[in-house]
Amino acid sequence: MKKNCDFYMDKFFALDKNERLPASLTVHLFFCRNCRNFVRKFSLLEKKCSKENMKKISCDSRNVVEIMRRLDSAYEMYNLQKERVSMRQWLVAGATLVLCVVLFEMLAFFASAEFFIFPLSLFFAFSIIMYCVAFVGTNMDFFIKKWKIQ
Ligand SMILES: [Zn+2]
Repeated sequence: MKKNCDFYMDKFFALDKNERLPASLTVHLFFCRNCRNFVRKFSLLEKKCSKENMKKISCDSRNVVEIMRRLDSAYEMYNLQKERVSMRQWLVAGATLVLCVVLFEMLAFFASAEFFIFPLSLFFAFSIIMYCVAFVGTNMDFFIKKWKIQ
C-alpha cells in the first residue's frame, strides 16, 4: 500500500459501524483495487464475526445463570419465560369460556330455568371481561410495541 492508501485506510477505520463512506474515500476505493479488496474482505469478516456473536442464548441457560451468580452471589433466577402464559393456552382458555357460555345458556334455556339465565349471563359477561382484561394486561408489552394506533 502506498502512503496515500494508508491515509484512506485510517479514514476508513475511523468510521463508526454502518457509517456512510465519505466521498473522497469512495473515490479512492473506486480507483484503488488493493484498498477496495481490503475494505470488502474486512466488511465480510466483520459481518461474519458479529453473526457468530449474535447467537441467541436462553436466559435460563446454565452458563448465563453461572455467570450471574459469580457477579452477584445473591442472584436468583427470575424465569420469566416459564411464568408466561403461551398464546395456545390463552386460545384454549378463551374457547373453553365461549363453549361454557353456549353450553350453560342452552342448558338453562332447555331446562326451562329462565330465572338462571340472567345471573348466568351476568356471570359469563363478568368472566369474559376479566379474561379480556387479563389478556391485555399480561400481554401489555405486545400491545405497546406492535400495535400502531393511528
Ligand atoms: Zn488505496
